[in-house]
Amino acid sequence: MLVRVWGGRVKDLRNCKLCAWECGVDRLEGERGVCRVTEPVIAAKQLHPAPPASYTVFMAGCNYRCLNCQNWDIAHYPDNPEGRALGYQDPKELAVEAVNMIETNQGRMIGADRIFFSGGEPTIHLPYIEQVVEHYRDTTDLWKVNFDTNGFATRKSMRRIVKLADSITFDFKAYSDPLHRAITGARVEPVLRNLEFLIPKYLDKIWEVRILLIPKAHDTEEIRAMCEFLADLDESVPVCFLAFRPNFVLERHPGAPKRLMERAVEIARECGLHATWSGMPGINGSVPPEVGECADKLLKHYDGRKGAALMGGYARVTGCRNHPRDCLACDDMARCPIKRYVAIRRT
Ligand code: SF4
Ligand code: SF4
Repeated sequence: MLVRVWGGRVKDLRNCKLCAWECGVDRLEGERGVCRVTEPVIAAKQLHPAPPASYTVFMAGCNYRCLNCQNWDIAHYPDNPEGRALGYQDPKELAVEAVNMIETNQGRMIGADRIFFSGGEPTIHLPYIEQVVEHYRDTTDLWKVNFDTNGFATRKSMRRIVKLADSITFDFKAYSDPLHRAITGARVEPVLRNLEFLIPKYLDKIWEVRILLIPKAHDTEEIRAMCEFLADLDESVPVCFLAFRPNFVLERHPGAPKRLMERAVEIARECGLHATWSGMPGINGSVPPEVGECADKLLKHYDGRKGAALMGGYARVTGCRNHPRDCLACDDMARCPIKRYVAIRRT
C-alpha cells in the first residue's frame, strides 16, 4: 500500500478518474496512468509574492506533457531523471504550516492571504488537497484557497475544485485542438467545456485566465479564437497573456517578442476583453533546422496548421512518435521521451 490513510477520499485513487484522461488505474496498488503518479507528493512549498500572494504548495506530477514546461523537474516527477519531490506530508500538518507561514512577518510583508495549490497539476491530487483544505478551514476563517489548473478535469472534479477554492487561476493553453494537442499531448475539449462551466457561473472565483504565448505557435488567428471564445462567455473575465521563455523541449525556441504580447492585448480588446500581459519578452532563440523539416512532414497530422506542426516537430525530434499527440493512446506512455527530457537551458 503506497498511500497513507487520509480519509475516505483515498478511494478516488482506486479507479482513478480524477482528470479528463479517466485512466481508471488503481493508484493505490501502484498502477500509473498518464500522470504517472501514485500517492500525493509535494514537490516544493514557499511563500510566493506573485499575485495572489500566497503560501504556494507545488504538487509533483502533471497530466500534461507540455513542451514548454517551466517546472519540468516538478511536473515530470517521477519519470524525469531530474524530477524532484519533498514527499508526502500529513494533510493536517500542511494546513497548520500554511496558516503559520501566511502569518509570519515575511508572509504579511508580501501580502500573502491564501494557500495556493500549484504544480504540476493539482487536480491529480484532488482528494488529498480536499483533506488539506478541510483542516485549513478548521484552523482559520481569515485566509483563502487558490487552485491553479490547466482545466483538464472531469466535470465532477471541476465541481469539487469550485467547492474548495476561493479563487482559481486557469492556464488556457490553446483553443484549436491541433495546437493544444501539439503543445500538451491532450485534446482541448474538456478544457473548453470547463471554461464554459466556470466563467458564466463562477466568474467571481476566477482570479484570471492565463494564456502563455509561444511565438510561431500562437499566431494572430489562434489568439483571436481564444479571445472570442472567452469574450462570448463573459467579456469581464480577467485575462493575462504571459510571454513564453525558452524552456524544456522548447529550450532553443525564440522567446515571445514584445510586439506579439502587445498585439495580443490589442486583439483581446478588439474582442471586448480587458487583458494585460506580463513576463520577460525577447529572449533569443531560433528554430533548429531539423525541427522545421520535421514540422513540414507532420502538417497533415495537425490539420495543416503550421504552428501546431512546428510544436509537433519539436516533440518528434525529441522522440515522440505518436502524432497528433495523444498521451493516453500512446504505446510509449510509460517510457515517454518527453517526460524524460532533461533541458540544458533554463530561462
Ligand atoms: S492522468 Fe488523471 S485520470 Fe489518469 S491516473 Fe492521473 S489523475 Fe488519474
Ligand atoms: S511519446 Fe507518447 S506519451 Fe510521450 S508525449 Fe508523445 S504521445 Fe505523449
